[in-house]
Amino acid sequence: AQHFLARAKAHQNLGAYVHINEEVTLAQARAADAAIAAGTSGKLAGVPIGHKDLFVTKDFPTTAGSKMLTGYQSPFDATMVTRLAEAGAVTLGKLNMDEFAMGSANENSAIGKVSNPWDVSRVPGGSSGGSAAAVAARLAPATTGTDTGGSIRQPASFCGITGIKPTYGRASRYGMIAFASSLDQAGPMARTAEDCAILLSEMCGPDLDRDSTSLDRPAEDFTRSLGDKLDGLRIGIPAEFFGDGLSDDVRAAVDGALKEYEKLGARLVPISLPRTELSIPVYYIIAPAEASSNLSRFDGVKFGHRAKDYTDLVDMYKKTRAEGFGDEVKRRIMTGAYVLSHGYYDAYYLQAQKIRRMIADDFQAAFKDCDLIAGPAAPNVAWALGGKSDPLANYLADIYTLPASLAGLPGLSVPAGFGEGGMPVGLQLIGNYYGEAKLLNAAHQLQ
Ligand code: GLN
Repeated sequence: AQHFLARAKAHQNLGAYVHINEEVTLAQARAADAAIAAGTSGKLAGVPIGHKDLFVTKDFPTTAGSKMLTGYQSPFDATMVTRLAEAGAVTLGKLNMDEFAMGSANENSAIGKVSNPWDVSRVPGGSSGGSAAAVAARLAPATTGTDTGGSIRQPASFCGITGIKPTYGRASRYGMIAFASSLDQAGPMARTAEDCAILLSEMCGPDLDRDSTSLDRPAEDFTRSLGDKLDGLRIGIPAEFFGDGLSDDVRAAVDGALKEYEKLGARLVPISLPRTELSIPVYYIIAPAEASSNLSRFDGVKFGHRAKDYTDLVDMYKKTRAEGFGDEVKRRIMTGAYVLSHGYYDAYYLQAQKIRRMIADDFQAAFKDCDLIAGPAAPNVAWALGGKSDPLANYLADIYTLPASLAGLPGLSVPAGFGEGGMPVGLQLIGNYYGEAKLLNAAHQLQ
């Protein structure tokens, strides 16, 4: 813990950490030492971990990258934080992110930008940008992230690390500040698939009393299949993931990784996910719709920021929200309120829900012919800080991560090679429901 705290301090310029409290961390580390000495420690005894600032923590502030939560202190820990702590993990601090997890470059954080450790003039990806940068720069051996539409997989890809989003419902959302509840999932980000498997085994498992979408499916040891032979494994290659929008450098790195799989005995099977392109409008209707509802709780009454001068209650709400939320969050709330409003609900929201189901069905059809699906995590390597200010350009870049999110499927990104400017490229692997162990083994074999 001391080592990583020192590194975090020495590399503050990266902007990865937003809250550090050495005293708290070292006290946890001493407690972990005592547990080890007493022989009562869990599997993660003394392992220092950084948490995305979307998970509430009682010993550190929680801001979700927003001015709205300035000064907010949670009275309890998120289930993910509790589970990892119970396994012996020590919290290094809280990590930067796009405001309320809305973004793909960590440039929507009210607290500051995060640099990509591979090239500090580039973005780390988002929204779990601080979590990815911290692992890549060795400011933490592992971190937690959240993925609503790609926020674990895309920054993992941009920063050359491994990150997995489990099947929707396997990791509890309790204490994870809600963005789009039907999509939000927590997951680990670490150097290797093996590290991710160890962490994910502690993170998953039912939390039925606290998260209404938690699955009643027992925790698993995701390390159990690591090393299983890939002979005969059928890897589906969706044509739609290799179309015009994919840059040549990313394509080359991904192709290289697929060749490795063939050498390991796997078979590449052409498949089709015909509604891949539709996942962008579908996601950018459903996620803002849910966000507009979830974020209504930030009204200046219970949490964080409250406007100073106001005339009455409604004026207080308005001023608080106008001051507290950043532009992207406001854009999503407005979009969400619009698509849910009378007269537009049927035309947008309902249509989007129907296509979401079709996207999930497309995956089930594809899984008749393959065991897992491979493709790029993102169409490009990390872009320059400030290089993609148009929101629509950011949305379009989510094309390869959104389909699995909409279907609730597990997905990961594992380093596959390097592209333009020597920047890392991630290979995305998507599994069928509960296919995490298989996914992690496939990623492990590439490393
Ligand atoms: N980039 C997507 C968005 O802006 C995904 C974010 C996420 O997964 N939290 O919504």
